[in-house]
Amino acid sequence: MGRTKVVGPAGKYGPRYGVSVRKRVRDILVRRYQPHECPFCSSAGTVRRVAVGLWTCRKCGNTWAGAAYTPRSGLAKYFKRYVVR
Ligand SMILES: [Zn+2]
Repeated sequence: MGRTKVVGPAGKYGPRYGVSVRKRVRDILVRRYQPHECPFCSSAGTVRRVAVGLWTCRKCGNTWAGAAYTPRSGLAKYFKRYVVR
């Protein structure tokens, strides 16, 4: 009796969850400032954001809809989920 340590749900999951989110957000923010790679011709540094979520490659001329800050929409899904939460 009395040996059971009561840790609330926040104490158990809060810090761990916070760290992983912070890590992911930072990862995305770092990526935002790196030269993006074109998903069509794979050349880096030729991708430009023409509008929020709209990307174009100067080398191959492709334009595609991606994330607001990164050309890859997969990453956006990731990010959106954490922003909503
Ligand atoms: Zn390209």
